[in-house]
This record gives sequence, C-alpha cells and structure tokens, in this order.
Amino acid sequence: MQETLMLDGRELAKQVRESLKPRVASLKQQGIQPRIEAIVASQDPASLAYVAMKQKWAGWVGIESGSFSVTAQTSQNELLDQVDRLNSDPRVHGVLIQHPLPKHLDEDEALSQLGAEKDVDGITSQSLGKLVAGLPGFRCATPLGITKILDHYRIDCEGKRAVVIGRSVILGKPMALMLLERNATVTIAHSRTKDLPSLCREADILVAAVGRPELVKGDWIKPGAVVIDAGYNKVEGRDSDVGDCDTEACSRLASAITPVPGGVGPMTVASLLANTVDAAEKTFA
Ligand code: NAP
Repeated sequence: MQETLMLDGRELAKQVRESLKPRVASLKQQGIQPRIEAIVASQDPASLAYVAMKQKWAGWVGIESGSFSVTAQTSQNELLDQVDRLNSDPRVHGVLIQHPLPKHLDEDEALSQLGAEKDVDGITSQSLGKLVAGLPGFRCATPLGITKILDHYRIDCEGKRAVVIGRSVILGKPMALMLLERNATVTIAHSRTKDLPSLCREADILVAAVGRPELVKGDWIKPGAVVIDAGYNKVEGRDSDVGDCDTEACSRLASAITPVPGGVGPMTVASLLANTVDAAEKTFA
C-alpha cells in the first residue's frame, strides 16, 4: 500500500518566509519599509496570541508591525476613526482586523471601511467580490495558504471532485471559489447537509473547515483522496490542537493529508505576510 504523504505546511511556510526576505530587502533599498497593523481586542487572549505570532513572523521577514487595542470602552466611532487613520497612513501597507472584536462593536462596518488595497487578510466584501469575479486582489489568507500547499505538492485540482465542509466567509466560501478557479467541481457542505459521510466519500479533495474536533472519520475518506484539515480546536486533556479530521484514521485511506498542527496554520500566517509584501510592492494597486 502506498504511504500517505504528509503535507508539511510548517516547512513550506519557512520557504515562503525565506522567499519574502529578499523582496522586503529590495523594498527597503527603495525606501519602503513594509508595515502591517492589527486591530485587536485587548481582552481576548487567543486573539492577542494570534496577533503576537503574526507579528513575530512579520519581524522575522523584516516587516514592521503595530497594533491598536480595542476594549469594552472603545466606541464604534473610535474604531472607525482608527480604520480611517490606517487607510490614509502611507507607512501602513496591510491592516488586519482580528476577529472577534468585542461584541458591542460592528466588525462588518469596520471591515467595509477598510481600503481593499490594505486588506491583506482578503476578507472585505471588496476583496471577496474580486475573488468571485476572478479579478486580481487579496485572497483570504487561510484558503490562499491551502492553495499554496496544493500547488507546492503539485496536486492537480482540474476535473477533481472537491468537497469543502464549512461555509464561513473567511474560509469555506473563498476556499470553494479558489478550488473552482482551479477547475475542480466543488460542493460546499454545512451543518444542514444531509448524509455528510456519503458526500465526503465522493471527494477527491476534501477540505474540512468546520471547527468540530475530529468530525471527519476514517471511513468518510475516498481511497486516494487528498485531505486538507483547516480545523484548529482546543480540546481538554489534549496537549496540542486538534483538527477537524481524525488524522490517524483518515491517513489510512488518504493519499495526502495536512497534519494539525503543522499543516494549514503556518501557511495562513505565511500567506498573510506574502500579501503584505504584495501590498508594499503595490502588486494590486
Ligand atoms: P465558522 O465560522 O464557525 O464556520 C464553521 C462552518 O462549519 C459553518 O459553515 C458551519 O455550518 C459548518 N459546520 C458546523 N458544524 C458542522 C457539522 N456538524 N457538519 C457540517 N458542517 C458543520 O468557522 P471558521 O472560522 O470557518 O473556522 C473553521 C475551522 O477552521 C475552525 O476549527 C477554526 O479554528 C479553523 N481555522 C483555522 C485557521 C488556520 O489558520 N488554520 C484559520 C481560520 C479558521 P453552518 O454555516 O450551517 O453553521
């Protein structure tokens, strides 16, 4: 039996970061210091940790970063003023609005105010509209990272049956569109989908983007399928994060699979940084 290929997002992310370093150096020689700014809820430890990790790797490739903390006292007007300031600050190339913001704030309004040319997370309606229309623009960091994994491992999507479980705006929907761009025949599954196991068994490429630890079982996998596990779940009693797939069981039938951790997660950050460098180079200006 053929061995299952582990799709090593951690190693690929390292390669992406390495490739960004000379581009950042070249920008600096032209007097451009790439910079990313985050808007983050100061009382959300997970958000702070994500932003700190993104800033750590940004620093590693030479991108400067900063953050604006929103609290229970921050008003919607203050949030929108900050978005405006970042939009008009020529030193800032990328802006990240880290979900979730405190509940009293309207995140959608803040996102709709963010200039598409600085939307390095690719989640504003302008960026998503460009994806739908097949126009150049920033693509959502997580599905973009997944396409980079598929490309790196030369996984051909053309004519393949792809199933994406999850229809969130930041992951499932853009993922489905990016697979469609690669000429896969795509089905999106969600919480109301009937007989999910049978649907998954039809997938040559299965993307799990659900947020339910080990929802996808070994016997849901078509022999030889490529399994992309975007899930990232904390489970009590488990030392490391758990994906949406039972990795060990799915590996028995899959030809290739992303591990958790070390698969999709590192590529999300690497893609965000790549988008920031593109923004500084004004690739999509
Ligand atoms: P989300 O907004 O909560 O969306 C989850 C989707 O899964 C929804 O569309 C939901 O369907 C669907 N769903 C929930 N339970 C289901 C079930 N039992 N069967 C079928 N579909 C079901 O989550 P998200 O933000 O897309 O994130 C999904 C996962 O990816 C999470 O584990 C998250 O931590 C992870 N993630 C990872 C990264 C990374 O960098 N690795 C980045 C972002 C997210 P309905 O629409 O019908 O409710």
